[in-house]
Amino acid sequence: MLMTGQTDEHERTMAFAEIALGQIKALRQDASPRNYEIWYAYATGYKPSLNQSINETLARNGNLTDADLEQVYGNYLAPARLSDKIDNVGLRVMDEIEQVMSMMDSAVGSAASYTESLADATTKLGQSKDREGLRAIVESLVQSAQEMKENNQALEARLNASKQEINQLQENLEVVRTESLTDPLTGLSNRKLFDDALSKSMSDAVERSEPLTLLMTDVDHFKNFNDTWGHLTGDQVLRLVAMSVKQNVKGQDTAARYGGEEFAVVLPNTVLRSALTVADHIRRAVMSKELMKRSTGQNLGRVTISIGVATVRKGDTMQSLIARADACLYAAKRNGRNRVICETDPEFASANVEPKVA
Ligand code: GH3
Ligand code: MG
Ligand code: MG
Repeated sequence: MLMTGQTDEHERTMAFAEIALGQIKALRQDASPRNYEIWYAYATGYKPSLNQSINETLARNGNLTDADLEQVYGNYLAPARLSDKIDNVGLRVMDEIEQVMSMMDSAVGSAASYTESLADATTKLGQSKDREGLRAIVESLVQSAQEMKENNQALEARLNASKQEINQLQENLEVVRTESLTDPLTGLSNRKLFDDALSKSMSDAVERSEPLTLLMTDVDHFKNFNDTWGHLTGDQVLRLVAMSVKQNVKGQDTAARYGGEEFAVVLPNTVLRSALTVADHIRRAVMSKELMKRSTGQNLGRVTISIGVATVRKGDTMQSLIARADACLYAAKRNGRNRVICETDPEFASANVEPKVA
């Protein structure tokens, strides 16, 4: 069974690889990693919009130039770097500010010349002797007032547009911020957000004299699973485990992907007893799911997880709390896996007298 799964995945991916290389050969393109990635993605059909774009170019021109390939890569594959996105928003804000500043400059200029023309009119009024002279002064005043009004309207429109642009940029920044704190595979918080959340929850807990409990979760025998069914299928299972975690926590809790196949949950204002219940719900949710490979309908059996639970103690640091939850997790592994262990469990004590095993 183990070999069958491995062979399937091997054959499936080799078939994609052959198609990719076949295209590169047929179209006499560079066999660069970028082009291989493009044609491999094309072969899998994983991104329909990429295939559509390539097919359209092929239908139009019969081949893809290097520039076409660069564009396809940029549009569909290049992981848009977060720092680039932030730089981009920053540049647009600077540009916006510059434009508004120059608009302000010219508004100040026209206000100054308006004041000047008013002063000029006052002088002329004092000198003017006849109707015609008065008329000319009034006309020039009306003219200046009109120009001033138009300037103000233009400035107002520009400021409104600018306000909208800045609102939009603020939204973009919020999206980038959320992205930077989210694990892309599972949609859970990433390690950075976990660290921030745990640190904040720990100081809140001390300040308010509230309990705080941490769960550390690790998928059982996951290396076996990957070896049997392939890493991509393994990734899908991680999404499923993440969903089971997410569905069993709420509100102020933080569920995070701590590392590869390890998840951590911060439970503020939660005593050990309640945290054990949450942990057991997660454990049961994961083991209750019968896994199926979408592409083939093959039954993959089930996966289980082990969970270590530790409650914050006086003098705890983030590191010491994590270490204690981890020690409980190892105790759960040693005692047969698919279980939840905390420090008051007898299994924890027995695990701790013997040397640790990973
Ligand atoms: P144990 O029950 O002792 O935890 O056994 P295990 O095989 O799960 O051992 P361990 O936790 O040390 O191994 C982690 C394995 O998880 C290694 C790797 O195959 C797999 N893994 C880690 N990160 C990922 C990932 O992002 N995707 C996939 N598909 N697999 C991962
Ligand atoms: Mg692990
Ligand atoms: Mg594991």
